[in-house]
Order: sequence, then C-alpha cells, then structure tokens
Amino acid sequence: MRYAETGYNLEIDLTRGNIERVATDPKETELYLGGLGTNAKIIWDRVPPEVDPFSPDNLLIFAAGLLCGTPATGCNRTIVSTISPQTRLMAFSMMGGFWAPELKYAGYDKVILRGKSPDLVYLWIKDDKVEIRDAAHLKGKGAIETATLICQELKEPKAQVAAIGLAGENRVYYASIEQGRSSASRGGIGAVMGDKGVKALAVRGSRDLNIARPAEFMALCNEVLDYIKFRNDNPIPGVMPILAGLGSPQEMKVHDEKWHTENFMWGNSRVRRKDFWNDEIATAWMETLDSMRTRLISCYNCPMTCGATISPPGKPTYMMKCFSKLTYTMAAFSDLEFGLGIAQSATEYGVDGFSTPQVMAFALELYENGILTDDDFPGMPADNEGRFYWLLDRIVRREGIGDVLANGTYWAAKEIGKGAEAYAHNTIKKHEQLPLKLSMLNPIYFLMYATGEKMNITQIEGQFPQAPFPEMEQREAFVKDWIQVPDEKFKQYFLDWELRGEKSIPYYPTPEMCCDIVDWQERMHYIDDALGMCSGLSSFPLKPPYHIHNYPKFIAAGAGIDMDEDKLTQAAKRYRTLVRANNIRRGMRRKDDKPPKNHWKKRFPELEKELLDTYYQFKGWNDQGIPTKESLDELGLDYVSKDFEKRGIYSDDGDTPSKETSAEKENGV
Ligand code: SF4
Repeated sequence: MRYAETGYNLEIDLTRGNIERVATDPKETELYLGGLGTNAKIIWDRVPPEVDPFSPDNLLIFAAGLLCGTPATGCNRTIVSTISPQTRLMAFSMMGGFWAPELKYAGYDKVILRGKSPDLVYLWIKDDKVEIRDAAHLKGKGAIETATLICQELKEPKAQVAAIGLAGENRVYYASIEQGRSSASRGGIGAVMGDKGVKALAVRGSRDLNIARPAEFMALCNEVLDYIKFRNDNPIPGVMPILAGLGSPQEMKVHDEKWHTENFMWGNSRVRRKDFWNDEIATAWMETLDSMRTRLISCYNCPMTCGATISPPGKPTYMMKCFSKLTYTMAAFSDLEFGLGIAQSATEYGVDGFSTPQVMAFALELYENGILTDDDFPGMPADNEGRFYWLLDRIVRREGIGDVLANGTYWAAKEIGKGAEAYAHNTIKKHEQLPLKLSMLNPIYFLMYATGEKMNITQIEGQFPQAPFPEMEQREAFVKDWIQVPDEKFKQYFLDWELRGEKSIPYYPTPEMCCDIVDWQERMHYIDDALGMCSGLSSFPLKPPYHIHNYPKFIAAGAGIDMDEDKLTQAAKRYRTLVRANNIRRGMRRKDDKPPKNHWKKRFPELEKELLDTYYQFKGWNDQGIPTKESLDELGLDYVSKDFEKRGIYSDDGDTPSKETSAEKENGV
C-alpha cells in the first residue's frame, strides 16, 4: 500500500488528446521524496536541453507535495515545474490554496502535460473521470472569472480550478497560474500553460489518503499546532515585524508597512524613501485596507490567515496573494488604494505581482530618459496610475511596446538597445528579483542570491537572522530555545556575530560558516518544496514549527518511508543537485551565479570569489559550478555524470555555453 501519496500520475498528451493513469515507482519517492524532487527527475529524464520552453516536448508538471492532503498543517503546495521562457532554465513555482490536496483526493500525485492542444481546452479531473474539454468560450477571460465559469458549467461549486488569464494565453514571459488565494507566479509557467493551449485544470476528489501510522502522525500535527499558537502569542523580539511571526510576507492583517516602504526601493528599484511612513499615511493606509479587506483567509488546512478577500470600489472581489499588497503601489509611487485596485486587474490577467510592476516601472524609466519615446506609448495617460493600467493592458495583449515588455526586463532591454540594459538592473539569471539596493555586501545573501535556483521572492532565505543582534543578552535569549538548528555550531556563529569590528559583515560569518548557513537555508526550502509545505511555516521564518528534527518523523509516520535526518539531508541534496544538473545541461555556469551588479554599493571582489570557490567546493561542484563526477556518483546520480561526460560538459571552459544549450538564445524560444 502507498501512504501519503497515491502512487499514480496523470499523463496527458495534449497533441493527441490521450489520457493515461500511470503507476509510479515507490523507490523514486524514497530517493527524491515527491513534489519538486520527483519533478526534477522527470524533467531530467524527459526534457533534454534541446527542448525549448515553447516546444511541444517541454513538460508542464503540476505536482502535489508528498504530504499534501494529509492533516499536516499548512501542507498544501502545488509545485509547478517546466522550462521557463524567461530564464530558459528549469522553473519551479509553488502555489498555495487548495488545488494540491484536491488532486490527491482525486487519486493522483501529479498531472504531467505534454504536447500542445490545437484548440483552447481545460481539463476536468473528478476521481477516475478525466476529460479534456473545449474552452473556446473561455478565451480571453480572466483567471478568476474562468474558475467561476468552470465551476458553474460543471455544477461543481467545490471544484478547485487553476487557470491562466489573458497573459498566459498570450505567452507573456511572467504570466502566472492563479488558484484560490494563491498563484504559481514565478518563471513564466503560465506562458507555458498558454502555449500548450490549456486554459485551466479543474479538479475534485472524493477519496481518502492512507497514512502509515495515523496516531503518531496526528500527535506530530498537534505538536505543530501547539507551537504555532505559542509563536503567535510570543513573537520574536528584536527583529522586524515581518520576521517576528510565522506565515507569509506582507500579510493582509498587517497595517504597519513602515519596514517595507522604507527599506525596499520604489519605482524601477532606484528610490529609497527613508522617511516615507508617517502618522498621516499610516492612518490613510489603515482606512484603505480596512474598507477593502472583506475577510481574512487561509490556504487549505492552515490557521494563519495570511491572505484576504479584497473588494476595491467598482471592481469584483478578489483574493490578495501574500506578496502583491505593495508591489504595484511602490513601483508607481502611489498609495495603497491604487495597489489594491490594480492587483485585481493583474490577478484576472494572470501576471506575476513581483515582476510585472518592475517591468512597468522599467518602461517608464526608459521613457523618462528618452530611450523610449512618445511614439512607443501612443495614447498613454499622463498620470502615473493611469500609465500603469495602460501598460498592463498593452503587456497582457502584447500590443505595441507591450509585446516587447511582455518578455521581461532582461529580454526587453536587449531588444530595445540604446543603453536600455543599464535600466534592467535588478535581474538574477534573467529574472526580476528583489527591488532592494543596500550598502555593504552581506556574504550570506551574496551566496544565496548567486547560487540559488529557486526563484520565489524569498528565494532560499530564512532560518538564520538577517542581521546580528546588538546586545549579547539578546543573542543569548535568542539561541536559548533555538531548537531548529541542525547543529549547535550555528548558535555560536550567531552569538559571535557583531554589528561592527572584526566579527561583522562582510568578513564574518567566515566563508566556511556562510556555506553552512546557506546550505541549511537551502535544504529547508528544498524539503518544503518536495513535501508541499508552505515556506511560511518552515523554511522562511525564524524558529518555525517544521524543521530538520521533526520532518523525518512526519515523513516516516505519514508516508511510511524509513527516514532520519541524515537520509532526509541526503535526499534533499540529491534532488537539489538534480535541479542544478538540469540547468548546467542548459548552459548555466559560474558566470550566471551572481547577484545584480548594484545590489550592494560596497563590493569585495576577492571575498566574493573566495565565497563562491568555498561554496562550490562545499557543495561538491567544480570551479564552474558543475557538480563533480564524484559528488554525483555519491548521491546515486551517476546517470547525470555519464550524461555530462557524453556532452563534454566537464571539458567546457565555462565561458562559452554548451553547444546544445538554449540558455543564451537571444530571440524567440
Ligand atoms: S501560512 Fe499563510 S501562506 Fe502559508 S499555508 Fe498558511 S495561510 Fe497559506
């Protein structure tokens, strides 16, 4: 019997209209867990680097994490994986909400889409009944509107629907897939869904999942719930509000936005408004939020209520995702009312709330600097808010300049030329990242940004405090109940960390310590993404309820897999390496492992080189960032080392992309 997982995937060939229910190998689950882990293996096996993002041979995989659908609190993530049109690398984007548990209850762990449908379709999965249905009448409809129409049409009000809007249909490189109060936004996976001719996946299930040792599993779940309550009652002192509790960034119950508005950059990530937040603004924003926020909501089986339904005047109600509350407001130098209003349109269009405002602010900066002119913006309103709405419409329709901007800042700047590339200054691996510019290099963040292949907004951060605490008493109090550390040495790293002097950034933590810290952070993110856990309860916050010590127990009691901390660490390392291997095979090298040039004002090239060298060695990668044959073989990934050898990847000098890679193609995909 299979536990926690169903043991079946749905394989759908859209070109032929063929549907298969395929049994999976339990050994793969032991090696790669599930969710992201097994997705990475499928992409390795079936999507070689010759396959471009918009090729029918690219796969689009919707995976429920290994523990989704079990009573584990907050375990509800759908991990959507494909080859990204924007980065041309493997993308994996996590979606909260309700879809993944519903898929499990219908009897499947993954839906794997291949080929392309000649006409727009949607999928209807109800237990054993799986249909490819005509979606011609849904063409051009909003993502949320589509979900409502499908539920009505099917007479299934409780079906969970993941849908794309106009942006996905038009293959905008940062199109999202929307579902419930969440979305899979990063990496343009909505564009791949549109390219495959799939408007939506609707699912409803009525089956139970087996739990290997139910009483033990429930006891673990109750411990987590007790701990969540404790943490909610006892926020961590001495850190910014967003890190003091659990859940997602920019929660909808938070009124105080001083930290975000004063620390992150406005416009095209250029302007820091240090004294922005005052009593007048605090009152105005509180009134706006309270008047539009109609209800606080959570994802499936979670008490955290990080999301909310928002009803902007004159617009339909929608569900705000955790991170879109301020992104449009700050990019447009506007107020919260504008941000909550335009996010409704953006959600229906189905675009990433992190990339989209950055792209629009980038376009306006090019306009202000004469690189784009009035001819590029015919009929654009004069006011900033009006311009943002105008640009959003052009982008999702790929009209005029919108067609260029629809490819994101990196590709748009290349196409526009005339110095535009200097304005696309916020990308990592061709993808819009944190609108943040800081002074002193932070070695932990340097490694995290440079080498991270997870593209969510928090990337692989979490677990270790972002900055030292000024007083030793505060540090001692912090480490006292820091049970989440995988090793006691992390406590000493933190105790010794000073704001100034020898043991301060950039030279402390030392490169060796940074390797330990970044590796721990990354491990927790990758475990979450295989199990389907929300990072807001695990990898992102300080002192989370899920950690390396209780996760093996959850996996053992839930999925019936013999598991301990070492085995779990090894499994996470195995599929993390496989994600990298997929990207190495697509041409990614050391030259790509870098943060945006101006992320920090004070840079230290020698230290940065040492950090990268040390980390590569720590990870078992060579000086080009390629996993060595020895490290691959040790993880049981000898099939990867053989492939690398066959392709001549080990003899590649790193300056020139592999012949077969598509990562550097300039135009089209
Ligand atoms: S913590 Fe927030 S984002 Fe995470 S599952 Fe719970 S409600 Fe959803």
